[in-house]
Amino acid sequence: MSAPSWGIERESRSDEREDRGSSRDGPLRFTMLTSASMSDELMDAVVLRAHGGPEVLARERIPRPDPGPGEVRVRVAAVALNHMDLWVRKGGPAFKVEYPHRLGCDIAGTVDAVGAGVPAALVGDKVVLNPGLSCGVCAACLGGADHLCRHYRILGEHAQGGYAEHIVVPRANLAPFPGALSYAEAAACLLPFLTAWQMLVRKARVAPGEIVLVHGAGAGVGVAAIQIARLHGARVIATAGAAAKLERARALGAEHAIDYTTQDFVAEVKKLTDRRGVDIVIDHVGGDTFAQSIRAVRNGGRIVTCGATSGFQPAIDLRHVFFRQLEILGSTMGPKGDLFTVLGHVAAGRLRPVVHAVLPLSRAADAHRMLEAREVFGKVVLEPGA
Ligand code: ZN
Repeated sequence: MSAPSWGIERESRSDEREDRGSSRDGPLRFTMLTSASMSDELMDAVVLRAHGGPEVLARERIPRPDPGPGEVRVRVAAVALNHMDLWVRKGGPAFKVEYPHRLGCDIAGTVDAVGAGVPAALVGDKVVLNPGLSCGVCAACLGGADHLCRHYRILGEHAQGGYAEHIVVPRANLAPFPGALSYAEAAACLLPFLTAWQMLVRKARVAPGEIVLVHGAGAGVGVAAIQIARLHGARVIATAGAAAKLERARALGAEHAIDYTTQDFVAEVKKLTDRRGVDIVIDHVGGDTFAQSIRAVRNGGRIVTCGATSGFQPAIDLRHVFFRQLEILGSTMGPKGDLFTVLGHVAAGRLRPVVHAVLPLSRAADAHRMLEAREVFGKVVLEPGA
């Protein structure tokens, strides 16, 4: 097992991102990011012992982790699904996990044990968890850009997640529980809101009066992006794939909603913007949609991409990018500190999570099928205690 190279940057971070999860990197990760040991006590969990369809999600009794120095153990009350859960379950070259692997990064619960060096007074606190893990000591982490840390990991992706009664995380991952929300609602406003916040506020620098096109209004990032754009005084055009979802998008604050299954969204956007195009596109879809987004944005506009659920190699006409001076901005997650800002808005009622369904953890496979079938508007949440 190699020793952590604290604070020393490698030559290229992009190399590591492509290679993340490799055996070269695996042991280092577990050495640095959690020192949890296993107790004799058992807990309920849903685990992966192989990649595949929803049927590989297996209910098991597994050893309960104990917190190591600087760590806390949280009793998981609710864990919200993300598309990332589906990707990791299906597997692929980028996903090398330690079996039995637990998915789930968006977690709300209560602190039920603390490790050495962590105040015992935290026990019993209602919390939500910051889904990103990082080394905490490098220049990126100390500069407030922990999501650029070369050891950055996401719970449930390359570290054990929340599909279980308990999870152990560094104390630095605790964030304040947002107001009077239910656990399910609190779990529903973490990764998607942090992601959409960075896309709109830090990357696209959204300004009052600007017009933002939000793809996939019913997805977690879509729900968050509509509200964050409105919070900053922007106007929103949303796309969705069913009449009921268009209605929900309007209720969240979209001025216009386009059904991409029956309408050409580029033509509709041109119509709605007097041929000019939108200022910003929020794209988590990729594929053909991304190529069309380029045609829907105004000269000098910004397109922010955080995902590629329908394909990651779009055919892009570069002439549009340089002649029309577009900005194409990549975005993943966001700084831990920004989650506190987001949670403040949630607690004050200015941003609100949307929960589509709450299921017991034992029905994780059904929850995956719902998300996969795109039958949802908002989040599907699992409850381990149910
Ligand atoms: Zn770091």
